[in-house]
Amino acid sequence: MATTPTTAAVSHVGKIRASNQDSGYLGRHLYVVADGMGGHAGGDIASAIAAQRIAEADREYATAEDAVMSLQSALIAANGLLAETVFEHNELTGMGTTVSALVRVRDQLALAHIGDSRVYLFRDGELTQITTDHTFVQRLVESGRITPEEAAVHPRRAVLMRVLGDVDASPEIDTGILDTQPGDRWLLCSDGLSGYVSEEKVVQILRTIRTAQGAADRLVKESLDHGAPDNVTVLLIDVDDSDGASGSAPVFVGSAAQPLSFAQEEVARKPIRLPTLLLHPLKPTPPEDSHFEPESESYLDELIEEDRRRSIRRRIMWGVGVTLAAIAIVLAGYLGYRWTQMHYYVGVSDGNVAIFKGVQQSIGPISLSSVYQTTAIDLDELPSYQREAVEATISAESLRDAHDIVDRLAAVTGG
Ligand code: CA
Repeated sequence: MATTPTTAAVSHVGKIRASNQDSGYLGRHLYVVADGMGGHAGGDIASAIAAQRIAEADREYATAEDAVMSLQSALIAANGLLAETVFEHNELTGMGTTVSALVRVRDQLALAHIGDSRVYLFRDGELTQITTDHTFVQRLVESGRITPEEAAVHPRRAVLMRVLGDVDASPEIDTGILDTQPGDRWLLCSDGLSGYVSEEKVVQILRTIRTAQGAADRLVKESLDHGAPDNVTVLLIDVDDSDGASGSAPVFVGSAAQPLSFAQEEVARKPIRLPTLLLHPLKPTPPEDSHFEPESESYLDELIEEDRRRSIRRRIMWGVGVTLAAIAIVLAGYLGYRWTQMHYYVGVSDGNVAIFKGVQQSIGPISLSSVYQTTAIDLDELPSYQREAVEATISAESLRDAHDIVDRLAAVTGG
C-alpha cells in the first residue's frame, strides 16, 4: 500500500515576542524542531541555521542505525556552523538552539535531541514524553531536589544545560531508535506548547481531531488562547502503513522559512499582557530570556547554591512570621485574660454565697474565674427564687456592685 504518512507543521510567533526564534522542518523522512535563543537577532538565526543544516540529512536510510549516525553528524555539523557564524558575526555571541529531530525508517524512528524542545508519542489514547529536557530544573527533579510540579513553576525553569551553539565544540546529544506502528501520532514541539498547554489538553486534542493539520493548528491555537508568551512550533506526524516517505514537498516553518538576516534590528516589544500570564497555571510569568546556557559545572553549583540560599531566606521569613503570629496570640490572650479579671459575679462556693473574680466561661481546662471572697450566707438559707439566681450566677458591674448584691442577699435570709 503506497499511502503516505500524514504530516503537518505549524509555527507561530506567539502573542508577546516580536520575532519567531523557532524553526521547523517537515521533510520526506526527517522532522525537526529547533528553538533558538540569544538576544534580539541571535535566536532566530541559530534555529534557522541548525534546521537548514540538519535538513541536509533528509534522505532514505537503509537502517535506523544509519539514520541515527547521520542525524548525530548533522547536529554536530550544525553546532560547528553556529560557532563559525558567531566567529564572523561577533554580535551573535551566545546564540544557540535546541534541536529535536526524527528520521523515519519504515517502522522505526531515529532520534537526536538536545535542549528542551520535546518529542511525544501518542499511542492508544496515551501520551508519552520521549525526550528528556536538558534543563536545570530537570536535573533538580532527577536528583530528587524538587518535584516535577515545582519544576513547572520554578524561576529557573528556562535555564538550559545543553544546546547547540558557540559554547561547546562537542555537545552531548541524546540519540535513540524508537519503534512505531500505524496509528501512532508523533508530536514534536517547542516549549511554547509544552510550557503552556497541559498534557491533558494535548491528549484531548490528539484524541478528537483526526487530521494532522487540524490537530497541529488546534494545538497552536490552544497555546495562543493561553496568552502564548513564547513562540510555538508544532510538528505532527501520523504514521500509517506506508514505508515512511512523505509524499508532500519538504517545508520549513518559523525562522528557517525566512531569508537569514544578520542585521541587528531594534525590535519594539509589544506590551506584556500581565493578567493573562499571571492566571496561567503552568508558567505564571514568561522567563525573561527563553534560554541560557551555563558555561560550566561551577556555574550550575552557583545556581544550586543561590536556590538554596533563597529557600533558607524563605524559611527564615516564615519563621519570623510564625513567631510574630505567636506573640500576637499570646498578647491577645493576655489582654483578654486581663479584661476578664476586671469583672465580678456572685455565685456558689462550697454551699455558700461567694464573690467571684473573672467571667464564668472557661477555655478548655483553664477557668477564667476564681473565688474572690466567700461569704457566711448559706445557700440553703435563701428563698428559692434568690437561691436559683445565685446558682445561675449574678453578674456584677463592679466589685462594689458585687458587695451590694451580697448585702441584699443577706437581707433576705432568715438570719
Ligand atoms: Ca521557546
